[in-house]
Amino acid sequence: MAPNHRKPTEADLSRMQSLIEFTRARLGTEAQSPFGSSVVETDTGRLVLRRLNAVRRENDPSSHAEVRAMRAACKRLKKPSLAGHTLYTTCEPCPMCMAMALWAGVDRVVFGATIADASRHCAQIHVSARQLQERSDMECLVVGPVARAGCVALFEDPRMVAAMALWRKSRRHRSTPPVSKR
Ligand SMILES: [Zn+2]
Repeated sequence: MAPNHRKPTEADLSRMQSLIEFTRARLGTEAQSPFGSSVVETDTGRLVLRRLNAVRRENDPSSHAEVRAMRAACKRLKKPSLAGHTLYTTCEPCPMCMAMALWAGVDRVVFGATIADASRHCAQIHVSARQLQERSDMECLVVGPVARAGCVALFEDPRMVAAMALWRKSRRHRSTPPVSKR
């Protein structure tokens, strides 16, 4: 596949479908998240790896699926560049993840649900992946939404809805006590 496809290809659709399956298979487990991401070789379609969002499990606000996938892929490939690779993600990357995709030099970013879709379920930063790319000096094709309904369905799964309601509650009632005064 040529790296310059602006429109989603059949291959994009089937890779997104497989990422949706990967993400959906973990609903109801400790690792559950509606956010899944994969790094794929643009030319051959070879899957490098897939990751889910692990912000809660890792107590790390930067552990978004895309960051984890790109970080692990770079480590595996032993270079800080993902040129020649396409990033798939069940949800349009947030500015943090999109910035990392630009720094990593990925050829294409292919997303499923939009930031607006996700914002109906959890807080989002309303800067689109395309806007961020346009403000950068880097070339990167942003393609999507692809398989949007299947990706939105991950957010709407009853197990995910219940988990997110709990997470929102625990955010409001932080268990960490305030720093004690001397
Ligand atoms: Zn993100």
